[in-house]
Amino acid sequence: MNRAAFLDRDGTLIAEKNYLHDPAQVEILPGVPSALRRLQQAGFKLIIISNQSGVGRGYFMLADVERVHHHLSRELGRAGVHLDRIYIAPEAPDQPSRGRKPSPQLLFDARDEFHLDLSQSYMIGDKLIDLQCGWNAGVAKSFLVRTGYGAEVARSMAGQLGAAVIVDDLGAAADCILKQETPRGRPS
Ligand SMILES: [Mg+2]
Repeated sequence: MNRAAFLDRDGTLIAEKNYLHDPAQVEILPGVPSALRRLQQAGFKLIIISNQSGVGRGYFMLADVERVHHHLSRELGRAGVHLDRIYIAPEAPDQPSRGRKPSPQLLFDARDEFHLDLSQSYMIGDKLIDLQCGWNAGVAKSFLVRTGYGAEVARSMAGQLGAAVIVDDLGAAADCILKQETPRGRPS
């Protein structure tokens, strides 16, 4: 069985920009390439789970999302990071959707495709729906990063964050995950 780090995109890996759809606007957050590299070296599959309602709302096309992802994958690739897969839910909130977060469906799809043990996997994001998505899928832990909307979420939704681990950024989440690694099954 494999393990995965499920990663929100906007506000977690790259700077939050309203309805980003231009590759030139992709701004990878500080520490992200190194955090992803460390998780990858520890054997985690790197899987992005992203709601892209701008498609469903008619603000941009699926092809724009793909261009952004091609650019992001190439930039991360230059830093030695291989993204295993990017799953998106392109629907608007009022449209029927198979996998829009907080639905765990895309994590279940990833589990089947990559033979993942979700109970040994992690979700990392900057919104409550990211955390809920992880919980709904039964991951080991959901992390809230304070980048993107995360700092505001940590302040204003403190009562709803339950078992979430709140950290400054993706690098801190990776530190927490990797610290629990050895010896296996015995969190230190
Ligand atoms: Mg986000």
